[in-house]
Amino acid sequence: MFDFHVHTDFSEDSSAKMEDVIKGAIKAGLKEMCFTDHMDYDFGGVGLDSDYFLFDIEEYFAQIANYKEKYKDDISIKIGIELGLQPHILELCSKDIQSYPFDFAIASIHTLERIDLVSKKYFENKTQKQAYEIYFKDLLYIVNNFNDYNVLGHVDIIKRYGGYDSILPLSEYYDIVEAILKKAIENGKGIEINTSGIRYKLGDYHPSQDIVKLYHQLGGEIITMASDAHSPQYIGYDFKNVLNYLKDIGFKYINSFDKMNPVFHKIDDLLI
Ligand SMILES: [Zn+2]
Ligand SMILES: [Zn+2]
Repeated sequence: MFDFHVHTDFSEDSSAKMEDVIKGAIKAGLKEMCFTDHMDYDFGGVGLDSDYFLFDIEEYFAQIANYKEKYKDDISIKIGIELGLQPHILELCSKDIQSYPFDFAIASIHTLERIDLVSKKYFENKTQKQAYEIYFKDLLYIVNNFNDYNVLGHVDIIKRYGGYDSILPLSEYYDIVEAILKKAIENGKGIEINTSGIRYKLGDYHPSQDIVKLYHQLGGEIITMASDAHSPQYIGYDFKNVLNYLKDIGFKYINSFDKMNPVFHKIDDLLI
């Protein structure tokens, strides 16, 4: 198994020590894991500094290099990053990816209209549909104007916040999601199956199954498995089910990444 979305205390919202995370991954039986700590320029946290969600990339590479060597007989460790993107910071993010030898980059959105989503302030004075539309419009802008990433992170994250009673059906925003996925596929990008949706009791992964099916129908073939764990016990969470779920949809492979290039692994071989 390959977990390509894992946080440590390099992310402001995690207190997990890197070494404990590696031990957790070994315990979970993973063959490979990829650290993907948060880099969110101009995060927009209410009452927080704009550099709140940044980390020291040099220090990150140094620590991971050390653990890579220490645990080389037990697990393969990759160096990734989760970019919190917004239309006005794309150049800054490109610079980081082009300046360091990352294996993998996730393109995520955590901030809209310069307000972080967790704070809920973004959702004030908007209908649910308006809140979704602004999110997908920004995501479309990003796939059209940014290329320094490998997969789109938690594509329908907007369903998690806002405190709505129900999730808007895909039919309400089908055209824009189709445009986003088409562009991502055209540019050789993938999506992740982020199992944190189950932990957040949303009843499905991120993205929802109808979006994963649409990605497959449109010819998308690049998929990573993502626990989005912020503490060691959630690494590899629900991955066996994810493999069966992807197989049922029609996917034959899942991916890991090395130096920003996809590596394909047969799902059937992983299910043995
Ligand atoms: Zn995220
Ligand atoms: Zn994450």
